[in-house]
This record gives sequence, structure tokens and C-alpha cells, in this order.
Amino acid sequence: MKTMTCKQLGGPCDLPLRGTTADEVIKAQDKHLKDVVAGGDQTHGDALKAMKGRWKRPISGMAWYRNTKREFAALPDD
Ligand SMILES: [Zn+2]
Repeated sequence: MKTMTCKQLGGPCDLPLRGTTADEVIKAQDKHLKDVVAGGDQTHGDALKAMKGRWKRPISGMAWYRNTKREFAALPDD
């Protein structure tokens, strides 16, 4: 398992998100953003919009995805 924070994934807080693959961590961040915004949090609104936008804009979204995967791969295992 590896850990990335909400901040490392483009969000505003330091919540740690854990997973065995970058995809798992990205999914956890996606869920975290949706959860806190649904709960009335304002600070995560932009990050959620950016996350949704990535899937609509495959080119820029893919660059972010590759970067995140590379960062994840460089992290030490927990
Ligand atoms: Zn967060």
C-alpha cells in the first residue's frame, strides 16, 4: 500500500488516501471529493470540478493521470 494526500492529487487538504495502485488512490480521491462537497464543503469544489473535467478532456486529463501515476510509482511502500 502507498499513501498520497488529497493535496498531492490536486485537492486542498492533507487527508491521506491509500491504495495498492495509482488507480485506487485516484478513485479514493474522487470519492473523497464527492463526499466532502456533498457534505457542504466549499474548499473542495474546484478540485472536484477539475477531477470531473479531466475525464471530459482526455488530453490534459491524461497528462495529469500519467503524472499522478509517476508520483505514485516513486513513493515508498507503507
Ligand atoms: Zn481533501
